[in-house]
Amino acid sequence: MRFFSTRGEPLGLSLSEAVLRGLAPDGGLYVPDAWPHLVSKDFDHCETLAEVGARLISPFAIGDRLESLIAEITSDAFNFPAPLVPVTGVDGEGEMHVLELFHGPTAAFKDFGARFLAATFQRLRVASDPTVNILVATSGDTGGAVAAAFHRRPGMAVTVLFPKGLVSPTQERQLTCWGDNVRSFAVAGTFDDCQRMVKEAFVDPQLSAAMSLSSANSINLGRLLPQAAYYASTSLRYWREHTRKLNFIIPSGNLGNAVACIWARHMGLPIGRVVLAHNANRTVVDFLQTGEWSPRRSLATLASAMDVGHPSNMERLRALHPDLDSLRGAVTAESVDDERIATRIRRDRQRFGQIWCPHTAVAAEVWATMDERSRRELPWCLVATASPAKFPEIVEPLIGSSIPVPPALAELLQRPTQVEPLEPSLAALRTALLSPRR
Ligand SMILES: *Cc1c(COP(=O)(O)O)cnc(C)c1O
Repeated sequence: MRFFSTRGEPLGLSLSEAVLRGLAPDGGLYVPDAWPHLVSKDFDHCETLAEVGARLISPFAIGDRLESLIAEITSDAFNFPAPLVPVTGVDGEGEMHVLELFHGPTAAFKDFGARFLAATFQRLRVASDPTVNILVATSGDTGGAVAAAFHRRPGMAVTVLFPKGLVSPTQERQLTCWGDNVRSFAVAGTFDDCQRMVKEAFVDPQLSAAMSLSSANSINLGRLLPQAAYYASTSLRYWREHTRKLNFIIPSGNLGNAVACIWARHMGLPIGRVVLAHNANRTVVDFLQTGEWSPRRSLATLASAMDVGHPSNMERLRALHPDLDSLRGAVTAESVDDERIATRIRRDRQRFGQIWCPHTAVAAEVWATMDERSRRELPWCLVATASPAKFPEIVEPLIGSSIPVPPALAELLQRPTQVEPLEPSLAALRTALLSPRR
């Protein structure tokens, strides 16, 4: 199978080429030129997430040097569970489940994609290659997940850019606690600045001449495809038990997680409605309403990993649904402000005993305020994108008690940190990348 840029670059690439490139030279994002069609019978012998993932992703690798390696990569990458947990106490209001995507090393869903990408790079690398430089802009969780996934892997270096002061203290520790082959920069700007710098670096001739750069953001196909695996696995499990399609509410920022779900549905998996749950950054919500695409600066919210004013993966959604009405049929989107996030965290703790992270709370609020008929008649799944223990500064005052910290997270939070300041410009990034670590 071949992959093309959303902006029409004429040359198709294989899966490994697209993963190594990250972003297309024309600035677009890679999308497949065809879709495998899979029905639930195709997954009959797949039990684990790793097996479902291998079955789902293998067709994309046909004819590529990754073809025989996908099963090995998914079992390396998906070494932690993605449980679907029913929420009790919903009585009479319908059926609600939570897909817990936070059981990986940094307690957020980005561990799935980051570990798949690291496992892939590791197998694609040949001993004679120069160091592969992974460049990543993060609004919170990406950087930590990528750093954890690549930390101490030979032949690979990671550079993390995050907006100074705009990630939570706990997140900042996770971005800066690595050392070795990981360098972290606090950029004097927003996430959008960080993301723009990364995009510019990839098309900068001076940098391309000096080093081999690759991305690990949700724009990389190697992050996005593996995320389709947990939607496949969850929806299949639900289908086998209930013969009904499961409907997903997805806390969304840059739309990587949502596109993975929509791709899984496009391939034939038993997924019903997909609802994008946004915070006060309502670029996508406004676009679906008005048809005007007006990216803007991001606003800082309680759900900071979703503070994206110009969601890149919209290009992939548009590639699949170029027509606005077709896009409106494929997804709906809602926006939730900080006050509603806070209230939802407080209420659902009391009502269901559930402690949401601020991102998951956006989805919980969308569920709680959706039209009654949809809520009662369809089985819903909230996608829990992070553990609340990553956001104690926000969640603990709201619920009035402390949140137990998972052991892996506790270990990370105790390490010493290292961080360098950076101006929000390509020139500053270029200088930093070309100079040795201080
Ligand atoms: C990154 C992130 C999101 C947003 O995911 P996208 O793929 O960018 O839409 C939501 N919640 C958490 C906890 C995240 O880390």
